[in-house]
Amino acid sequence: MPFGYNGKILYVDLTNRTIEVKEPGEKWYRTYMGGTGIIGETLLKEINPDIDPLGPENVMVFTCSVVTGAPISGFNRFSVGAKSPLTGGFAESEAAGYFGPELKFAGFDAVIIKGAADAPVYLWINDGKAEIRDASALWGKDNAETLTALEEATDKKVRVCGIGPAGENLVSYAGLQNDIEHFNGRTGMGAVMGSKKLKAIAVRGTGKLEFADPEKVKEIAKWHREKVKVHPPNVGLTKYGTPGLTEGVNAGGFLPTRNWKEGQFEGWKTLAAEHYHETIFAGRGTCWMCSVACKRRVQAETPYKLDKHHGGPEFESIGALGSMCAVADIAAVAKGHQLCNLLGLDVVSTGGVVAFAMECFENGILTAEDFEGRSIGFGDADGMLWLIEKIAAREGIGDTLALGVKGAAEKIGKGSEKYAMHIKGQEPAFHDGRGKSGMALGFALSPTGADHIETPHDHAFMGEGVSKLFPLGLLDPVEPLKTDAAKVRFFYIGQKAWGINNLLGLCNFCSVPIHAMTFPRLVEAVAAITGWDTSLFEIVTAVERGNVMARVFNNRCGFTPADDKLVERWYEKMPAGPLEGVAFDREMIADLIQLYYEMSGWDTEGRPTKGKLAELGLYWLPEAE
Ligand code: SF4
Repeated sequence: MPFGYNGKILYVDLTNRTIEVKEPGEKWYRTYMGGTGIIGETLLKEINPDIDPLGPENVMVFTCSVVTGAPISGFNRFSVGAKSPLTGGFAESEAAGYFGPELKFAGFDAVIIKGAADAPVYLWINDGKAEIRDASALWGKDNAETLTALEEATDKKVRVCGIGPAGENLVSYAGLQNDIEHFNGRTGMGAVMGSKKLKAIAVRGTGKLEFADPEKVKEIAKWHREKVKVHPPNVGLTKYGTPGLTEGVNAGGFLPTRNWKEGQFEGWKTLAAEHYHETIFAGRGTCWMCSVACKRRVQAETPYKLDKHHGGPEFESIGALGSMCAVADIAAVAKGHQLCNLLGLDVVSTGGVVAFAMECFENGILTAEDFEGRSIGFGDADGMLWLIEKIAAREGIGDTLALGVKGAAEKIGKGSEKYAMHIKGQEPAFHDGRGKSGMALGFALSPTGADHIETPHDHAFMGEGVSKLFPLGLLDPVEPLKTDAAKVRFFYIGQKAWGINNLLGLCNFCSVPIHAMTFPRLVEAVAAITGWDTSLFEIVTAVERGNVMARVFNNRCGFTPADDKLVERWYEKMPAGPLEGVAFDREMIADLIQLYYEMSGWDTEGRPTKGKLAELGLYWLPEAE
């Protein structure tokens, strides 16, 4: 009997309306473990890279890891992957909350969705059983309405991961919501789900996971809970959530402002945590077994109605709809955040797209005629909210903006490409790489495009902070502004530490070894949960295996070294603030990326060598022959 996982994967074919359970065996679980690994293996085996991401041939993977659902703070995330409609390559998007653990308690470790239904459906998974049900009455409903309807149709305690109208309308950056306040936001997984006419997956599980050493798991959970209470970043997250980052990021000069033109926002105080808490804060929320409780809830009647149950803005929403759009109004930002949650849009990409539209308007590329007679420039809070609804509905200019900045600029033309900030087609999360060059390299090299969940952030490893990476052999403190071979080495090693989150489904804020967890205790936890005599080496090798499979998938999709680049504006000098004059040199970055390829065992075209594939046991790939 497996420990920590069920040994069962649910395969659902929506075209033929068939459901099958596969049991791939312990060796498969130990090789791929979760997130990036299971998605990488599935996509490489199941998908022809030439397919249309919004066609029935795309395959969606919803996966937990072998440790998801263990009662340790942060062991709760699950990942969703497919071919991305936003980037045309490898997609992976993670969310916390309760959905992942519930799927495990229902008896499954992953759900693989193939084909497409001919009419709206939802998948109902209930304690080891699964059925495809009619969702015609749910089509067109927002995420809150869908949750309520499915609680009535299935079980009051159901956990729901679904799409809103944006996913149904195939907006390229539509995301998934679970229980309204947790999101698989990045890479357009909502559009893929919409293309399959799959409105939601509803799960109820009352089973229990068996652990190899339950007493040890309990002991580690207690130790970790105590540590979280005093670990300064976790204390800060409990008090203010991620909005607590706003002040420091602005002070450091890397808070993206007015579509990445500036690194400081003059209206930051009205967006920062103190003002947020004094005005709209209405309580904290949390995820499965997490004692940090970093989630915010907000409430207000005027000027914008905010519902306590529809989620509160995170730091990324503040960057997206606040500083990027120069909107100095936390209530408007919260309203935009809640609209994105209900309609099913990734708030990061949405903010990038709205800021792009505003800059196009200010430069005469888009005019009031494109906006139904409105003027939409930076600082226009109501314009920002209006655009969000237009995008989700794909009405008027919203239909063009639904393509993301890359696709929209290609359609608009007139030099608008100059204002389209993306990497591999994905709008970046809100950390200006000119202030943290290791993260900038991470954005360039992430298989999913500019994605803050795929890369370590330099500031966490400055000074004594680097000691967190001692067990991986990184001994020199990181200097955020230095861009050299040592920085590539930091990224190369840090990527493996950070990659553990996406492999094992651990929360970035509490359960990874750079926060209140440590590498030795994490290894002990994985061993106690699974019964495997495992090691840091085995886990980090599985991280690399996942990254390499994602790279191979992207290579098959036609990506080349030309796609491993920075956000265009980062090659320009920062105009003011602490980073005034800082810019990346294009050739130097290209050279450092080649150095990363060499460190990784990839050739000069960024293709993992046969030797690397063999080292990772990926003999089954045609590329390894
Ligand atoms: S730290 Fe926040 S996001 Fe992470 S598990 Fe806890 S409540 Fe959820």
